[in-house]
Amino acid sequence: MPALLRRERITIEMMLTESMEDYLEMFYRIVAQQGYIRPVDLSNAIKVKPSSVTRMIQKLDEAGFIKYEKYRNIALTEKGMTYGRFLVWRDEKLKEFFRLSKENVQVEEQVEGVEHYITPETMKFIHKLILYFKADPARLQELEAVECQGDDPEQEDLRYLRAWLFRHSG
Ligand code: MN
Repeated sequence: MPALLRRERITIEMMLTESMEDYLEMFYRIVAQQGYIRPVDLSNAIKVKPSSVTRMIQKLDEAGFIKYEKYRNIALTEKGMTYGRFLVWRDEKLKEFFRLSKENVQVEEQVEGVEHYITPETMKFIHKLILYFKADPARLQELEAVECQGDDPEQEDLRYLRAWLFRHSG
């Protein structure tokens, strides 16, 4: 069993929410860049109310991902570093994966739409696909040449799908 799972019992309350994952990912990016997080770095990076940032910081602190004292710099714990590293990696690999496509994939929006529901195992599979197609440009051309057998939903009216919001907002 991976070390992270062995060390503690997982209860649903310990699970990261989507926005906790987003924050932790951002914290990791800042730490990777400059080694520490000052409160001012957060007000620069986030365009939400300071009160919700504070609440998020407290939740991540209670869950053991960061160490926070008021008015001091924020540090990532070992667990925070491990998860943050994974979240950044997941984000980068998913973008890389969607960019393999010549379809009109809206990469940023699609990553935001799926990232929190992809398991490490699926990420491994996606990573393999990326490596496979990047190893030889002929493979990508071959992929492009594959004909779908007329079962693509291109002509359907699918405007009630949640995904429509991604395609048509902004
Ligand atoms: Mn997200």
